[in-house]
Amino acid sequence: MKIIVIGGGASGIVASIFAKRHNNEVIVLEKNNKCLKKLLITGNGKCNYFNDDFSFEHYYSSSNDLSFINDSNKRKVLDFFSSIGVVPKVKNGYYYPNSNQSYSVHNSLLKEASLRGVNIVYDCKVLNIVKKNDSFVVSTNNGDYICDKVIISTGGKSYPKTGSDGDGYLFGKSLGHKIVPVIPSLVGLVSNDKFIKSLSGVRCDACVSIGSKSEIGEVQFTDYGLSGICIFNLSNIAGRLGNCSVKVNFLYNFVSDFDSFCKLFDSVNNNVLGRSIGELLEGYLNYNIVNVILKKCGIDFSCPWSDLGNKKKVLFDNLVSFNIDIVGTRGFDVAQVSMGGISLDDIDINTFESKIVPGLYFTGEVMDVTGDCGGYNLGFAFLSGMIAGGSVGDLSD
Ligand SMILES: Cc1cc2nc3c(=O)[nH]c(=O)nc-3n(C[C@H](O)[C@H](O)[C@H](O)COP(=O)(O)OP(=O)(O)OC[C@H]3O[C@@H](n4cnc5c(N)ncnc54)[C@H](O)[C@@H]3O)c2cc1C
Repeated sequence: MKIIVIGGGASGIVASIFAKRHNNEVIVLEKNNKCLKKLLITGNGKCNYFNDDFSFEHYYSSSNDLSFINDSNKRKVLDFFSSIGVVPKVKNGYYYPNSNQSYSVHNSLLKEASLRGVNIVYDCKVLNIVKKNDSFVVSTNNGDYICDKVIISTGGKSYPKTGSDGDGYLFGKSLGHKIVPVIPSLVGLVSNDKFIKSLSGVRCDACVSIGSKSEIGEVQFTDYGLSGICIFNLSNIAGRLGNCSVKVNFLYNFVSDFDSFCKLFDSVNNNVLGRSIGELLEGYLNYNIVNVILKKCGIDFSCPWSDLGNKKKVLFDNLVSFNIDIVGTRGFDVAQVSMGGISLDDIDINTFESKIVPGLYFTGEVMDVTGDCGGYNLGFAFLSGMIAGGSVGDLSD
């Protein structure tokens, strides 16, 4: 069989390795002059390639059946990486290569592809795919390729300068597949609130929520709005809603309700003598945040806790439910992933073969499966590459 993999990214290279069995000829067509460009910048150059908590609740899709996220597949992905020489360093469940360099994963994958005899064609942009009888004609800027099976591994449309700019959706659509609307995800949120600029550069631990979804972690205030892993994990909701608000609970690990707040500050006020409310709050929070909150509440920094009267409730509300108006996300240019894509309704999730066009397969981000921040997206890219490559390359099918 002759198998063409379109895209030499994380999922495409793994798919090519698994497809290269028996006497199959496997060709990866990559539009860039190198493969795995995006993988190199993942995890700030350290490549957070998997997460120990490989479970449904970290994945989002319009489909309810994500049964490929299971322990047996988790084991297969981890065994594969150890078989190609990637030594893991696991920090709080986050898998990185022990070298702390994404190059280790990059080099191990490309070496394995080369050892198996995968042929990679660079600077080759696929323009169109047509099925003719039992074959596919893949048209590129370098001419046409005829093959028996095609794997679309073109990624989504986030961070397009790495090569993934949405072509896969066009190919899928032209071959009759439904596309779940695509939005940027794992991305910073933009706010025009006037205090935002005065907090730029501040980082703090908080519980942040949009509607009923909450995340705990480090919030980073920037000149455009909000960033940080916990914000990224809320960005798919903000992306769908457009205008919305993020509630920030700055005291989530200290107080649970107004009574416990009053008890805490009564006691702190008794123990730490001669301090104003502003000075007491500085024991808990960055002073820029303290100033913004006190200003919003109309409370003077130098006012004693005992003189706050009914302003205590206003202060409590702003400390545990500080409202930041969001006008949208920072968009695809800087988003880590695209949410949405080729609908799983049109794909057999046991093989990732199209239900509409036999012989056509999909892997990775081009499909309507998105993970949280933390190794979940590469985890799915690798797993789907293994499954699709393993299925397409099997002579018994
Ligand atoms: C800054 C950043 C940090 C990230 N950090 C992490 C992290 O730490 N952990 C994690 O799990 N995920 C992370 N991700 C997400 C992760 O990198 C992606 O989800 C993953 O790379 C998707 O793999 P893929 O194979 O589907 O697509 P990609 O890796 O995007 O590969 C797609 C390939 O297809 C090629 N291509 C596209 N169109 C064509 C065409 N028409 N013809 C030929 N070739 C084509 C592209 O050039 C590219 O090489 C991060 C993403 C970004 C942007």
